[in-house]
Amino acid sequence: MAMNTQGRPTSAGEASTKSHKTFTGNYGLQIEEPLSFEIGRPETTGVDLPAPKKMTSRLGKLARAGEIGIPGLSEPETMRHFVRLSQKNYGIDTGLFSLGSCTMKHNPRLNEKMARLPGFGDVHPMQPQSTVQGALELIDTLAHYLKELTGMKAVAMSPKAGAHGELCGMMAIKAALEAKGEGHRRTVLVPDSAHGTNPATAALIGFEVKAVPAQADGTVHVADVKALLGPDVAAIMLTNPNTCGIFEKQIVEIAKAIHAAGAYFYCDGANYNAIVGKARPGDLGVDAMHINLHKTFSTPHGGGGPGSGPVVLSERLAAFVPYPFVHVGNGFELVENEGRKTKAEKPFGRLTAFHGQMGMYVRALAYMLSHGADGMKQASEDAVLNANYIRAGLKDLMSLPFGDQPCMHEALFDDAWLKDTGVTTLDFAKAMIDEGYHPMTMYFPLVVHGAMLIEPTESESKASLDLFIATLRDLARAAKRGEVERFRGAPYHAPRRRLDETRAARNPVLRWTKPQPLAEAAE
Ligand SMILES: *Cc1c(COP(=O)(O)O)cnc(C)c1O
Repeated sequence: MAMNTQGRPTSAGEASTKSHKTFTGNYGLQIEEPLSFEIGRPETTGVDLPAPKKMTSRLGKLARAGEIGIPGLSEPETMRHFVRLSQKNYGIDTGLFSLGSCTMKHNPRLNEKMARLPGFGDVHPMQPQSTVQGALELIDTLAHYLKELTGMKAVAMSPKAGAHGELCGMMAIKAALEAKGEGHRRTVLVPDSAHGTNPATAALIGFEVKAVPAQADGTVHVADVKALLGPDVAAIMLTNPNTCGIFEKQIVEIAKAIHAAGAYFYCDGANYNAIVGKARPGDLGVDAMHINLHKTFSTPHGGGGPGSGPVVLSERLAAFVPYPFVHVGNGFELVENEGRKTKAEKPFGRLTAFHGQMGMYVRALAYMLSHGADGMKQASEDAVLNANYIRAGLKDLMSLPFGDQPCMHEALFDDAWLKDTGVTTLDFAKAMIDEGYHPMTMYFPLVVHGAMLIEPTESESKASLDLFIATLRDLARAAKRGEVERFRGAPYHAPRRRLDETRAARNPVLRWTKPQPLAEAAE
C-alpha cells in the first residue's frame, strides 16, 4: 500500500463485500436509511391541516409556477428517519471513545438538565441586559473559577472553540507587542508535535512559524528553544501536556527563556484535563492559554459540534481582553464596545457577535460545582491513571515511540510493532470498528510514524478498560500471526465499509442529484 512520510496510506485498501446479502440491505437491527429527499413525497405531511379557504393571491407574477418539491413524511416516518440516523452515530454514550487529544469524557446528565433551565436555555442574545442578569452572573462566576484554577489574571470568555481561543490569545499577544512598539517581532516558535491549529493560527494573523524540534524523550528542551530565540521572536506556542501525552518537564525554564527574550508564552490548553487541580499554568509562566470547555469540563462535542474556548491571560496580557466581556459594577454589564472603556482596558477589538456559548458555560459550571475542587483533581488523577493502565496493558505487544516512561492522560503507540505484518495503523483502527470501538486517533501527532493515540479519560471503569485492552491484545496477536484478512477489508460489520477518505477530502461531492428510478437506469 502506498504511504506518505507519516506512514499514512494514500489510497484506500480493497474492500471486500459482506458474505451474506439480505433482501432489504439491512443487517439484523442495523437499518439502512436513505435521505429524506429519496424517501419523502411532496404530497405527504405529518400534520392534518384544514383545506385553505378560497383566497386571491397577492403575489402577482411572482407566484411559483410549479411544485416546490420539498419531500414530506408522515409523523411515524419522520420519527424513524431521524432515530435511524441517530443510531448510525457512535458517541460517548454508546461506548468507550478512545480518540486521543479530544478528551471524549462522559457528559453528566445533570449538566444537560441545568442547560435546559428556561432561564438559560431560552434567553435571547438581544434581550435587554436587565432581564439576563442571572445568565451574566453565571458567565462571571465561571470566569472566576477558570482564573482560580489556572492561576491567571483575566479571561476572555467569548471564543467559540479551541482554535478560536488560539486566535484570541495570539491577537492579544500581537496587540501587547504593538503597544510596546515591538510590532516588528514576526516569528512564532511551534514544536513539531503541535496540533495543526497552532501554526495555522500564527500564520493567519501574519506571523512566520519556526519549528522547534522535540528530543528523543518526546519533549521540547530549553536549549533548543534558546537556540531559536532572537529579537524577531514574538511568542512560543507550546502544548502541555504535549500531544505525545508527555508533560513538558522544562516548561518553567522555557517560560523564563521566552520572557527574558521579550516574547510571550502561549500554551495550547487542549490537554488541560490531565492537570486540573494539580498544576496552575499561571505558576508555570504561561501568558495565554485556551481551555476547551468541551474537552476538560465535559459538554458534548464532536462532529463539528459546539465548542467553547475561553482564554485565560496573565497580568502581562490582561488589559487586551477583547469585547465583549462582563463587567461587574452595579449589577452585571456585558461591555460590547468602546462606549464604556476604562483607562486600564485596551481590548484588541471585538471577537464575537454575542457573549459566547451559553449552553457550554452552564454545562461547564455545573460540572465544576458538582465535582468540587477535590473531584476535579481526582478526575485528572484518574484520567492519567487510566491512560497508564492502557499503556501498561499493551506495551509488550505494541511499541512505544519514546521508551517505557509514564504518560499523562493519553498513551501514544507507533507502528514499529506492525512492521512486516502487512497490517497498517489504518487497518488496525478499522478492525476496532468491527469490535464495537471508535478507533483511537491515528497518524497524529505527525512526529510519530503510524501514530495511535489512545485517551480513555477518567470516565471508564476498570472493567471497561480491561475489555478494551483484551480486545486490542486479541487484534494485535492476530496481526502478528499474519491474519491480514481480518484487517485489510475491515470494517466488515459497519453500515458503511472502508471509504476512500483521501479522495473524499480531495474531491468532495457537494451536490446531491436525484437518483434515477431503477427502471429508467436499466434502459
Ligand atoms: C482539540 C485541540 C485543538 C483545537 O480545539 P477545537 O476546540 O477543536 O478548536 C487544539 N490543540 C489541541 C492539542 C487539541 O487537541
